[in-house]
Amino acid sequence: MSLIVQKYGGTSVGSIEKIRNVAKRVIEYAQQGHRMVVVLSAMAGQTDSLIALAHEVTQDPDLREMDVLLSTGEQVSVALFAITLQSMGYEARSLLGFQVGIYTDHLYGKARIHEIDTHRIIEEIQNDRIVAVAGFQGLDEQNNITTLGRGGSDTTAVALAAALKADVCEIFTDVDGVYTTDPNVCPKAKKMEFISYEEMLEMASMGAKVLEIRAVEFAMKFDVPIHVRTSFGKEQGTMVIGEKKDMEKVLVSGVAYNKNEARITLRRVPDRPGIAALLFGPISEAGIVVDMIIQNTSEDGLTDMTFTVPKPEFHRTMKLVSKVAKEVNAEKVLGDEDIAKVSIVGVGMRTHAGVAQKMFDTLSRENINILMISTSEIKVSCVIEEKYTELAVRVLHKAFGLDQDESGDQ
Ligand code: ASP
Ligand code: MG
Repeated sequence: MSLIVQKYGGTSVGSIEKIRNVAKRVIEYAQQGHRMVVVLSAMAGQTDSLIALAHEVTQDPDLREMDVLLSTGEQVSVALFAITLQSMGYEARSLLGFQVGIYTDHLYGKARIHEIDTHRIIEEIQNDRIVAVAGFQGLDEQNNITTLGRGGSDTTAVALAAALKADVCEIFTDVDGVYTTDPNVCPKAKKMEFISYEEMLEMASMGAKVLEIRAVEFAMKFDVPIHVRTSFGKEQGTMVIGEKKDMEKVLVSGVAYNKNEARITLRRVPDRPGIAALLFGPISEAGIVVDMIIQNTSEDGLTDMTFTVPKPEFHRTMKLVSKVAKEVNAEKVLGDEDIAKVSIVGVGMRTHAGVAQKMFDTLSRENINILMISTSEIKVSCVIEEKYTELAVRVLHKAFGLDQDESGDQ
């Protein structure tokens, strides 16, 4: 008999009607003899409304109380779901994070799961009950309610699947799987049958917002297979799994883009020890995450430094950098918000040469200028002018043989 952990997101439980549909689906699984643990998010829009309510009181609400407030969204959905299952003649029980024993650290609003006590859940399933677990919440060592951060129910589901040694963790959502690129940008995007954890992390961090990044990290660490699929139909979605041998046959698995970064250049700074530390120290202290960094070869002891930060942090970073620029006598600071990062991702790059070259060629044939380049083992990213994003995504998707109905020339 298999044990399945399923997770349904907010849009899948957005109304009583939808909760009923989820219940019917879960019952089908139960009837086939599977033991079911179902993690739910708050009903669509609920978490946002709760945040808005607190902000009507103050812009700066206490973080502990915010977690007490936000965890109620999931409490509503699991209770309604259990009531629905019972009304259909099935034994069901809802459990909140603290009732399960989902223990976290004390970082309100972004707590990390430390440990899960599986006793209570196992007891419930042994009594033939369908168990509904509230996603996104836990308890710290002082018995304070914590939440895991927006989208955190994915992590709850994967962590439970790991702790319970479930056969699979199915994440039901409003898209039907992971695509080779954003179908809104490239109509020829294809649904992938498989993607490795690592590729998924690269795709997700660059804006393919299907799965929460932390959930994928968790799954990779504990080797939990995730099946991402639609809650509105029966078709297979995408399996997110450990790397398999034949995955390497494909050079590029997906094309991602990110319009949410801005570029800052410091012109003609002295090239001596300590300058990078001086520049990036205040930025990291301000909690700003720098992505790409490039330093040019120096000429007459002077060099240029270019880096990217998230767009919302652009103005704050410009202020910090301008201060440092004065201290070190840099010539000037340039900023550019109209950029985008386009990336190709694939584990096949590890074993094949010429992938980056093909990307540069493809972009140059469209006269798209590359402003910055960065690479990792399984990814090549180019920063380009924002207005060319869609074009770049489409030509790269085609060049690497990812377009639907094409065998590809990889
Ligand atoms: N309800 C929470 C949120 O909206 C958690 C989740 O949906 O996963 O972020
Ligand atoms: Mg969600």
